Order: sequence, then structure tokens, then C-alpha cells
Amino acid sequence: MPKEGREKTAKKKRSGIASYYQIEGDGLKRLRPSCERCGPGYFMADHGNRFTCGHCGLTRYKEQS
Ligand SMILES: [Zn+2]
Repeated sequence: MPKEGREKTAKKKRSGIASYYQIEGDGLKRLRPSCERCGPGYFMADHGNRFTCGHCGLTRYKEQS
């Protein structure tokens, strides 16, 4: 269970399959990375500045520019 009690989810973003893929040109582009531990198919959740895997708990920070 990820501990996210302290973090308030201010805005709810798109949910469902539409949030996993973005239609771009003639193909689909994946928006979320898949977990490198769990393998393809386990998408990581977007937490603003980082992605976390709900399966194994892996956290990967986004690159800020
Ligand atoms: Zn994982």
C-alpha cells in the first residue's frame, strides 16, 4: 500500500485508458513509463513530479528542465 495520505489530490486528471495513451499522428504514444521492475504492462502512476509503480512501489522522478 503506498502511503499517500498526506498528499492531497487537488485535481483529478483524465482517468481510464485515455490517460495511458495519447493519440499523436498515426500512432499511439505512451505517456507513462512502464515499471522497469515489473515489466511492460505495469504502468507507473503520475504523481506530478514523479512516477510510482503501484505494484512494487518503485519511484522514478521526472526530469525537470
Ligand atoms: Zn513495479
